[in-house]
Amino acid sequence: MHELGILSAVVKTVEQIAADEQLTQIDKIVLQVGELSGVVPSYVKDCYPAAVYKTSLADTELELEVVPGIVRCKECGTEFNAVQHDLKCPNCGSADLDALSGREFMIKEIHAC
Ligand SMILES: [Zn+2]
Repeated sequence: MHELGILSAVVKTVEQIAADEQLTQIDKIVLQVGELSGVVPSYVKDCYPAAVYKTSLADTELELEVVPGIVRCKECGTEFNAVQHDLKCPNCGSADLDALSGREFMIKEIHAC
């Protein structure tokens, strides 16, 4: 599962930010995960306890904000949710698509108490 590796990188980044900003106690991390980012939100949730185990973030809460994977068909211009329509245009059936949103994977917020 590559989610664990990705989360370990997130943990390192958050620890770095916490050190830079002199945040002593982090409460919650908010991650933005796009449906087209290649990261599965439910796996991220499942992996989180393992990723933070024995780190300074062990007691933090993880919140995920899932960004819908919206694409535009290059053939007919229809905009639709790529996941709901299985990466095919519901209007013309083309699979030639431009991603408009949903590729995000970023740390959106770090809450310190
Ligand atoms: Zn189309």
